[in-house]
Amino acid sequence: DPILSIRGLRKSYASGTEALKSVDLDIRRGEIFALLGPNGAGKTTLINIVCGIVTPTAGEVLIDGRNWQRHYREARKRIGLVPQELTMDVFEPLISTVSFSRELFGRAPDKAKVERILRDLSLWDKRKEILKELSGGMKRRVMIAKALAHEPDILFLDEPTAGVDVELRRDMWALVRRLRDNGTTIILTTHYIEEAEEMADRVGVITNGELILVEAKDELMKKL
Ligand code: ADP
Ligand code: ADP
Repeated sequence: DPILSIRGLRKSYASGTEALKSVDLDIRRGEIFALLGPNGAGKTTLINIVCGIVTPTAGEVLIDGRNWQRHYREARKRIGLVPQELTMDVFEPLISTVSFSRELFGRAPDKAKVERILRDLSLWDKRKEILKELSGGMKRRVMIAKALAHEPDILFLDEPTAGVDVELRRDMWALVRRLRDNGTTIILTTHYIEEAEEMADRVGVITNGELILVEAKDELMKKL
């Protein structure tokens, strides 16, 4: 059974833009799924709907076959989002930021869990530093730590390597694979074909609000 199902999802913004035109998609448990498409294709809209940030015009999202919106609190705990923009309180020590994120999603405080997440991301030694003083790569790690703080089993990464240098991109890829190997289902968006090729088990190509192709990675690469 898919961990996540998207059915007939549509979004028209108030401006009249049809950002999604009836998208259907099943995400398999434990896979890395890449949503590949150019800027403006609807990737962020899709992610934001599934994460509860944007309201769809029509359609539904199911997690383990249950309607997401009718079980919002429970569903929200299962989803983590690493947004494109690095939104963080720059003057907080990063350990506070990460602990706070955990509680925001209704999980009880747990110092040991937070420590494990920070250690996994090689952030433990920097836990008392304020975000303002961290490098770009470290900030991205903190964004991931924030998204993982409440122990979601589905993680969304919106353009995780947009604007990062090659070294950091490889670092990011390794990190995402490690999360998957630990049992997290990963959905990422990208406009880099090589990123989809490198990372994903399956790829969905989206353009103009339509999911035009969903393939196992190897099949896709034959077609592109
Ligand atoms: P809706 O109420 O349809 O969900 P939002 O509240 O997300 O729409 O956005 C309100 C308005 O903000 C839009 O109608 C649009 O004018 C503007 N807007 C925000 N982000 C964008 C964007 N990326 N592209 C174009 N317009 C935008
Ligand atoms: P992508 O992530 O693939 O770049 P988006 O989901 O951000 O695509 O955008 C899809 C389309 O919807 C674009 O035409 C964009 O300008 C428009 N759009 C995105 N957010 C808003 C908004 N809040 N209000 C109006 N239009 C928007």
